[in-house]
Amino acid sequence: MASVVRTIDYNLEEQFNQDIFDYALERGFGEIHIKLDKQLDFRAIIAIHNTKLGPALGGCRFVPYSNSTNAMFDVVRLARAMSYKAAMVNLPYGGGKMVIMKPPHIENRDAFFRVAGQFIESLNGRYITALDSGTNLTDMSVIHTQTNYVSSLAEQDGEPSPYTADGVFNGIRACVKFKYGHSNLSGIHVAIQGVGKVGYYLARLLHNEGAKITVCDIDQTSVNRCVEEFAANVVSSDDIYTVDCDVFAPCALGAVINDQTIATLKAPIIAGSANNQLTRAYHGQRLHENGILYAPDYVINAGGLIYAVNRYEQASPELASKRINEIGSSLLNIFERSKEENLPSSGIADTIAEEKLA
Ligand code: NAD
Repeated sequence: MASVVRTIDYNLEEQFNQDIFDYALERGFGEIHIKLDKQLDFRAIIAIHNTKLGPALGGCRFVPYSNSTNAMFDVVRLARAMSYKAAMVNLPYGGGKMVIMKPPHIENRDAFFRVAGQFIESLNGRYITALDSGTNLTDMSVIHTQTNYVSSLAEQDGEPSPYTADGVFNGIRACVKFKYGHSNLSGIHVAIQGVGKVGYYLARLLHNEGAKITVCDIDQTSVNRCVEEFAANVVSSDDIYTVDCDVFAPCALGAVINDQTIATLKAPIIAGSANNQLTRAYHGQRLHENGILYAPDYVINAGGLIYAVNRYEQASPELASKRINEIGSSLLNIFERSKEENLPSSGIADTIAEEKLA
């Protein structure tokens, strides 16, 4: 039986040093589901945080984890963020997420995602899945053979990343406006950590607007594409935090804002698509004290959820674009309150979302 390898660059279990069930209970969870299949080495978790506003909708992540505790922490943190995200943009959905621990070798990917589909179907619509890191539209089609509770389908133009990038782009413009008093991104220097799907689309939007771009990625092909198409500067994954730029845009994985990175960050603005960028809640306070403007992740990256819901409901894509255009004004509202109340933007966003969930 293949064992699960460590490749994610943060160890959530070590960082939290807390019992996972205590952690989940403290954050209002009522249900966490697990599915195992010995023959396939299939290990998956669906965490449903809140269904008060509607069924839980959130992506299916398929990445390697060092152990099941890390996977559990990841899915719980992500599911909660989905509740806050949906509430923040007034969508009648709750927060949930699915994590499948990716083994080093998979003989039959379709069989894997058929089991994933059966797992989702067993929850009778309490959880609706979508794309996330490591899954693709083909995986979603396979899931769809087992359940209708899936939103990212190729035949419905289900790829959300360009829409997420649109929202992040709007968000960066709002950050620049708040910090510098103008919305012109020409000449603004943005350091993008991770130029996969969202990071690449974001780089393109910024390049078209005349912004200067620095990128890093552990995948050389992704880096090369940005050099060729956008004349991007390249730094190593370790050096991205110390780039002397206007905006740091985390678009890889979570927990990248922590004690170490805050001590070295040069950018006065953090605005990117990654989920759960703050390792702990107090890091939002640290950023505030250091005068770093932080665009709360689940607000600035809500474009993907807005689009996933739009596709699930088979509504007009223009409606999604209209909602995504409002991300900038939501952020400006949060920043104004943060300034007035002298509280971190992350805390202000949580308060607004919690009021809507109450
Ligand atoms: P992706 O997997 O396509 O891209 C992530 C990129 O980050 C990859 O190119 C990967 O090689 C790179 N990467 C991984 N670890 C890295 C490291 N340590 N340093 C530098 N680069 C690294 O994922 P994506 O769909 O573009 O999503 C990016 C982030 O945005 C994720 O956190 C995801 O959860 C979040 N997000 C995505 C969407 C969406 O619509 N795709 C929506 C909301 C949030």
